Amino acid sequence: MKTTPVKIANITIGGPEFTVIAGPCSVESQEQFSSTGLAVKKSGASLLRGGIFKLRTRPESFQGLGSSAFSMAKEIKSQLGMGFISEVTDPRQIGDLDDVVDAFQVGSRNMHNYELLKELGKTDKPIVLKRGLSGLIKEWLHAAEYILSQGNEQIVLCERGIRTFETATRNTFDLNAVAYIKENTPFPIIADPSHATGKSSFVTPLSLAAAAAGADGLMIEVHPNPADAKSDGPQSLNFNEFNLLMTQLERVLESLDRKLGKLI
Ligand code: PEP
Ligand code: MN
Repeated sequence: MKTTPVKIANITIGGPEFTVIAGPCSVESQEQFSSTGLAVKKSGASLLRGGIFKLRTRPESFQGLGSSAFSMAKEIKSQLGMGFISEVTDPRQIGDLDDVVDAFQVGSRNMHNYELLKELGKTDKPIVLKRGLSGLIKEWLHAAEYILSQGNEQIVLCERGIRTFETATRNTFDLNAVAYIKENTPFPIIADPSHATGKSSFVTPLSLAAAAAGADGLMIEVHPNPADAKSDGPQSLNFNEFNLLMTQLERVLESLDRKLGKLI
């Protein structure tokens, strides 16, 4: 089926060009976020990610900087001239976050939060809807319908791995879902090999596989020093690793007559 492209800031996802969204799992500090933003931009990412409100498995884990990161994130994204995507974990955050982000991310844990989806359906910002940890493709598409039902048609799906019987890796990367979404729905689909694998050394090969499977883009976690990351360090690439990924990705895209979308 023909994909209906979605525009996030100055970038179109689901058109002829491939989109790379990159940045840290969590925004941790001015220095960490701005250095990561600069590095991913230099390597060819066109949109920035960074969690401000984090949904962590354990309550004692870092929960994100919250609203204290708003002005920092706004300043850095405007300095870099990059659109910014961050997760909204609660409908009460929408009003304030709307001023900070260019697209709202719905995390895996909230794919079934229909009240959140309905509220996001009333906004005029694109929504990056991640697949639930154990979400069936049809449940994921029904979640998208909740957003559509309120008038917002700007939806990008994100395959981020699912929970299966296999525990050797954090999740199981379902590339079948990428092919399925492309063939059967009009939604652009991006892939997140960081959460899908949970291991930095697997991120590059699975990024290339997602591009080959027909994804419209990738979302990748990058950190200046993954060993010190406040969340998801084991799956985060350092700047060099991300740069290498981008070099290899461009080769794979070229072999498929596709091109990496770049910031103008
Ligand atoms: C994230 O993108 O940092 C995140 C929490 O992802 P997910 O919702 O897929 O676990
Ligand atoms: Mn993460």
